[in-house]
Amino acid sequence: MFGRAALICLSNLVIIANVPKTIKQLQDLMVGQLKRRGFYPKNEKEVLLRLGEEMGEVFEAVREKQDKRDLSYEVVDVFWNLLRFCELKAINLEKAFMEKLKKNEERPLPGPVSGISENS
Ligand SMILES: [Mg+2]
Repeated sequence: MFGRAALICLSNLVIIANVPKTIKQLQDLMVGQLKRRGFYPKNEKEVLLRLGEEMGEVFEAVREKQDKRDLSYEVVDVFWNLLRFCELKAINLEKAFMEKLKKNEERPLPGPVSGISENS
């Protein structure tokens, strides 16, 4: 009935949203939730401080060997604040990502790459 829909339950609020396919769609979901819940930081320094705090929580989750779900939620917190920062600075993250991917691809390598993790 809802196709690729996700059911997200927040307290008594039930939101049915299409599963996001792009970073922009994730960003729109984030902004919508922040505004609906009355917490929409507009100060870039505050967002950057939160980004740093959340990165620290990722370190803590790794150090404490927290389970994968808890670690992934901390990673999402980092991503969340990164999206908010990009929105504040009017950065099109998808476009910038592809541009940087191309730039990196064209950059000459000093030698063969080694030590690539195989558990991705
Ligand atoms: Mg966190």
